[in-house]
Amino acid sequence: MNFFNKLIAVSLPIVPKAIVRKVSARYIAGDTLADAVHVVRGLNAEGAMATVDVLGEYITSLSQAEENTEYSCEVLKTIEREKIDSNLSIKLTSLGLDLDPEACEKNVLRILENARDHGNIFVRFDMENSPYTTRTIELHNKLKNKFNVGVVLQAYMRRTENDIHDLIKTGAKNIRLCKGIYIESETIAFKGREEIRNNYLKCLELALSNGLYVGIATHDEMLVHGAKNILKKLGLRKDRYEFQMLLGVTEPMRRQLIAEGHRLRVYVPFGADWYGYSIRRLKENPSMAGHIFKAIFTGR
Ligand SMILES: Cc1cc2nc3c(=O)[nH]c(=O)nc-3n(C[C@H](O)[C@H](O)[C@H](O)COP(=O)(O)OP(=O)(O)OC[C@H]3O[C@@H](n4cnc5c(N)ncnc54)[C@H](O)[C@@H]3O)c2cc1C
Repeated sequence: MNFFNKLIAVSLPIVPKAIVRKVSARYIAGDTLADAVHVVRGLNAEGAMATVDVLGEYITSLSQAEENTEYSCEVLKTIEREKIDSNLSIKLTSLGLDLDPEACEKNVLRILENARDHGNIFVRFDMENSPYTTRTIELHNKLKNKFNVGVVLQAYMRRTENDIHDLIKTGAKNIRLCKGIYIESETIAFKGREEIRNNYLKCLELALSNGLYVGIATHDEMLVHGAKNILKKLGLRKDRYEFQMLLGVTEPMRRQLIAEGHRLRVYVPFGADWYGYSIRRLKENPSMAGHIFKAIFTGR
């Protein structure tokens, strides 16, 4: 990251929300479920699948958790009714994990029962920061034989290779592998760009060669290239994995992968609680400083 991007990254909390909203618009489908459906239809027309996420995390009351649960159920009903090619991603903290783990589990169950009743839609448990890793994996493991679910693992976490071994042993079927987005301490996480990449490819090969279906979630050209080499080496059929990308990121690479015949899914977040997600995306955008200056000085 260059000097101006670093400066903007640390100054983001004081950038007016209206500017953040403007420059992060490409990463978010919109405020409403109808906006998300519209975006998913466009992606489906391009040959991409989707996973919809209701924005919101780290809530402060159980009534918010219930509202989020209700909204996710509404998304599932809509996916079936509108016949769009999408599944659902959920964050356990938005469903009450921090406030009351039992209430959170009830909310998750409600979502999974709805997913089952609306055409057995797949539900992905997103992975948040390290205080939640074990609990997210445990809840996934508890429910994985009864419902169509999968969990996310982060290649920057030193524990991930072991987690994959455990998931294989306990008969898990489906993971998403990403680098990881939260700030973690060096004692538990790899920090260097190359060591994270190396661990990503090592974990990917371990998972794929043991029969796990993997959502290969990255926009890093080196990793996409490395993943293709592993797929070729293992001779895997195209229905044993998919590439995954975030809405608004590296669209040419997304189109290229689809043109090559790979399954590709786009993560489509929507909702009123857009701020935290937008800040994380902006910090990862190598041209962020330029976008923010342009928005501040030209209003575009
Ligand atoms: C489908 C999906 C689901 C995810 N789910 C989770 C999750 O559950 N938990 C979690 O911790 N993380 C999740 N992530 C985020 C992930 O951990 C990374 O933070 C993020 O994908 C960036 O890593 P990268 O592999 O793309 O590599 P990077 O090195 O960050 O990016 C590679 C290149 O992609 C481009 N790029 C990346 N981000 C942007 C951006 N915002 N704007 C413009 N260009 C960009 C740039 O050209 C950059 O050089 C998910 C990512 C994806 C794709």
